[in-house]
Order: sequence, then C-alpha cells, then structure tokens
Amino acid sequence: MLNIVKESAANRDTASGLVLTDITSEASKLPAFDGHERVWLGSDRNRGLTAIVGIHNTVLGPACGGTRIWPYESFDAAVTDALRLSRGMTFKSAIAGLPFGGDKAVIIADPKTDKTSQLLEAYAEMLQALDGQYFTGEDVGMTLADADYIRERTPYISGTTVGGSGNPSPVTARGVYLGLKAAWKYKSGTDSLNGVRIAVQGLGSVGWALAEDLAKDGAKLVVADVDAERVAAAVKRLCATAIDVGGILFADAEILAPCALGGILNKETIPQVKVRVVAGAANNQLADHGDAQLLAERGILYAPDYVINGGGIVNVAMELMPGGYDRKAVEAKVAQIPVTLTTIFQRAEKENRPTNDVSLAMAREIIACAGRRP
Ligand code: NAD
Repeated sequence: MLNIVKESAANRDTASGLVLTDITSEASKLPAFDGHERVWLGSDRNRGLTAIVGIHNTVLGPACGGTRIWPYESFDAAVTDALRLSRGMTFKSAIAGLPFGGDKAVIIADPKTDKTSQLLEAYAEMLQALDGQYFTGEDVGMTLADADYIRERTPYISGTTVGGSGNPSPVTARGVYLGLKAAWKYKSGTDSLNGVRIAVQGLGSVGWALAEDLAKDGAKLVVADVDAERVAAAVKRLCATAIDVGGILFADAEILAPCALGGILNKETIPQVKVRVVAGAANNQLADHGDAQLLAERGILYAPDYVINGGGIVNVAMELMPGGYDRKAVEAKVAQIPVTLTTIFQRAEKENRPTNDVSLAMAREIIACAGRRP
C-alpha cells in the first residue's frame, strides 16, 4: 500500500474544503506510472470527493481526456486506472493526429448512489484550481447532464450541451462501427455484417449506439450488461439475444465488441474466447500489453482500443482547435479510423507482430517527431 493512501486520508481528516495534493512522486511507485508528468489528488471530505487526475504526456499539446466515476475497490486501484487511462489518451490523440497530450481523471464514487451535486461542484472546483492543466469530458459514470452541470462552474470541460459539442459517445460509436467493419473485412474478406454474430459487452452510451448500427446491418447480436433494463431493451428493440455477464466474452460469435470496462482480456480469458475479431470501444481492453500476443497466437485480430475508439476525443478536441468546432473536420478524422486500422493490420501481419505493438510504435514515432521539432 502506498503512502498516498495515508496522505489522502490525512487530508480528508483535517480539511473542510477542497484539498489539492501533488501525488506524482507517490504514484511513481505504481507499475502503471510510465513517466507521468503529473498526478493530482483532489479530496473534499464534506462533499465526498476523491478524484485523481493523471497527466501523462503533453509533448503534442495540452492534455485532454475524460473523467470516470466508479466505485473502485481501493485507492491504489483508482490511481492505477487513472494512470492506465491517461497513458492511453496520449497514444489515442497521437494516432488520431490531434495536437493534444494525454490525461484522464477518475472519481472514486458509485455513479448510481454517490454522484451528488455537491460532489460535482467540488470536482468543478478542482478543475478550476488546476487552471487549464487538465481539460476533461465525459467517461463511464459521467452523463451529459453531469458535464453540463460542471460546465456552469468551470470552462475546463468539453462535450457539453451549452458552449460545447454535446455528448461525444455517438461519434465514438460511429468510429467503432467503421473500425469494426474494417477489422471484419481484413479478417473475412467482406465488410458485410449481415448474419454475422457479434457479442456486445456493455450497452451504455457507446455500446447501445454501436449495437443499433450493427443491427441495422443485419448482424445477429448477443448482448450483456449489468443493467438488466438495457439488456431487455436490446432484446426487444434490436432482436438481440441476451447472455449473462460472465459469459459474454466467451460467446459463440465471430466478433466481440467490448464496450464496458477495461482489463477483460487477460491470460485467463483469452484462451476461452471464441471470436475471430475483437473490436470495441472500451479503454484498456487488454490487462497487459503482452496479451495481444496471446490473441495473435490464437488467430484473433485485435483492433487496438485507443485507435478504434478515438472518435470521442476527436469530437471534443475539435472544440479546442483554433478555428473552433467543425463537424465536417470531425467526420473526416473519424473516417480515417478504418484506414489507420487497416494500415496497422497490414504492418502487423508483414512484421509478424501483434497489432498493439504496431500502433504503439506508430504513436511513439509521432510523439518523438514532435518532441524533436524546434
Ligand atoms: P457507459 O457508462 O455509458 O456504459 C458502460 C456500460 O457498461 C453500462 O451500461 C454498464 O452497465 C455496462 N457494464 C459495466 N460493467 C459491465 C460488465 N461487467 N459487463 C457488462 N456490462 C457492464 O460508458 P460509455 O461512455 O458507453 O463507455 C464505454 C467504454 O468505452 C468505456 O471503457 C469508455 O472508457 C470507452 N470509451 C468511451 C468513449 C465515449 O465517447 N463515451 C470514448 C472512448 C472510449
């Protein structure tokens, strides 16, 4: 257990308002640290806020990434998730050709029970206090209404209704849909999804929109979500087959679209996966970078998560570009997602490497070039 826990507990015990603590050096003891530039802890005992902001890399530009609200099992688990997610944002923005760096925040709270207006107010204060070091948006657990509420208190959030481009999830879903089709085409030789069995894990903002598009194409959906109402709606409206949460990864299907949380593909689960393609929205689908090798050995084509799910960051980042938000420019960048993925698939096959090795090398080349520019 790290000192951070003690430090944050001490802050919570003594302070009455928001306390912002630089926990970079403590976070550097975690395996997921990977050279983060800065890690902040925001805590407010009275308003129930414990938030961690990871700023991974700002070589390409200011850091930009969403906020996840989740009831983590431990403080270290929350910091680790913030670190893994913000690192992914660095590579996501680079691959998408955006002049932005990577960051991400997590708030330790159950979005169903703990997400009070006071908590969101305290978080908005934290964003204000960071004074533009961190620019955020929605992620799991944060709704458009939450983002709008925060935007009334700080400008450091995009993807809002007023003064923003709205919920980025439909754009993310569009990119995932195009990327999934490109992956299926690479694997099967056709991009028709008619009759193709696709397992969708998670029917939230992105998963639902994706499932709708797939159903329109005639795909046979197998779905799971911890929220039974969403599953029932998919069965009724999308003619999907419901499967239990524990079985969705191992569903008898051609494609798996993970659209819930990360770490689901690991040494235990991969040997049991039956699909030929993994292509979905969730961040950090692989527990470890090396797990892509296990997928490759089983002949499963993996669409690297931060490449296929880049539509959302493209949409919110466009708000921050000098010319302001431009829908056509967003669509053009999202249309590049399947092109980039196909390049990655081809290079991986030619070089006999896992696809995520290739995407990481490509992202690092982009960042290194920018770093060398005078
Ligand atoms: P969301 O909170 O709207 O939806 C997540 C869904 O997953 C919920 O319906 C939840 O009930 C379900 N879920 C949680 N645990 C589950 C489990 N064990 N099994 C099955 N279902 C489970 O989130 P979202 O915005 O749709 O994001 C989904 C994923 O995509 C996340 O990993 C997110 O980081 C990633 N992502 C989202 C965006 C975006 O624009 N929203 C952009 C890029 C990446």
